[in-house]
Amino acid sequence: MVGLSACQTTTLEPTITLTATDDIVALSLSFTPIPTVALASPTSVPTATESHTPQPTLILPTVTDTMTPIPTVTDTPTETALPTITPTLAQVDHYWLQRPIAQEDGNTHWLDRTYPYGGTQFGTREVHLGVEFANSRFTPVFSAAEGRVVFAGVDTAILFGPRRDYYGNLVVIEHPFQSPDGLPVYTLYAHMQDVAVSEGQVLLAGQRVGRVGDSGIAVGPHLHFEVRVGDVYDYRNTLNPDLWIQPYRGFGTLAGLVSDIDNPNGVVLQVRSDRVQRETYTYGSNRVNADSAWRENFTLGDLPAGQYEVIVNSGNGRNLFRETVSIIGGQTTFINVNLNGSR
Ligand SMILES: [Zn+2]
Repeated sequence: MVGLSACQTTTLEPTITLTATDDIVALSLSFTPIPTVALASPTSVPTATESHTPQPTLILPTVTDTMTPIPTVTDTPTETALPTITPTLAQVDHYWLQRPIAQEDGNTHWLDRTYPYGGTQFGTREVHLGVEFANSRFTPVFSAAEGRVVFAGVDTAILFGPRRDYYGNLVVIEHPFQSPDGLPVYTLYAHMQDVAVSEGQVLLAGQRVGRVGDSGIAVGPHLHFEVRVGDVYDYRNTLNPDLWIQPYRGFGTLAGLVSDIDNPNGVVLQVRSDRVQRETYTYGSNRVNADSAWRENFTLGDLPAGQYEVIVNSGNGRNLFRETVSIIGGQTTFINVNLNGSR
């Protein structure tokens, strides 16, 4: 880890703030609380004072060994058309949150891609309305942005999920900015071992709110993290954290809308470059909210900047969709994936 080694030799708790210069955005660390840059409007851009290069060993996602071979170009229904590169609409990005897990050795500060937002793990689990950071018990959890604690404790007497004692030790923070469609924005930190803040407390970004645990319905220690807008007590009011958490420098996010008159839910998308091969999935239900700025039904964050092919195969390996996109550091690239009539 570049530039953070000093953090490991002090007992001071790092405050992690988001600042920025142009589109170069990264985490910065400070050991004394400093005022967080006010996010005056949805169009404001976080700025950065210090950048860190993520560890290369953690950059490359797991190669999917079971991936089917790349079909030949003649398999694609759009074989006569040149690949379309969708323009990037960076002006609607709203990366106003930082990761709730510090970028330190031994920590998983990347979002778990096996059970992404909206995912069902091929129908075996509930639709996921948050994301996981898989870490060992007692790993510190930090506030994703400045804000005020509106709940801290166990959700046994107040309903934040489908049922009581769902999230266990939970912290909910309201942030001083609104969603692109004008709703209040909250972040939730669930299944923790304990909480380190109290209701009404005002936090800076990067303050410790608790530690990773397995309280509530969790099976094994991890942090379940959510972005909610509007009525914070309605567990369905979530949005995809991939579109809110600031990408690391040199990393961007792919988002898109898969259209399919038969069933757009749970579609597998392969995203590959010459050095990265990953998979993502469209949301498993029509009840999963799309971001008001993007109207997506899938995302894939933490992609190193570069050219990627986005591929959808049929069950027998035939190409239903294949297109090239550019992932740009610090931005979202949006792609429309039209599968109507291709199956
Ligand atoms: Zn979860």
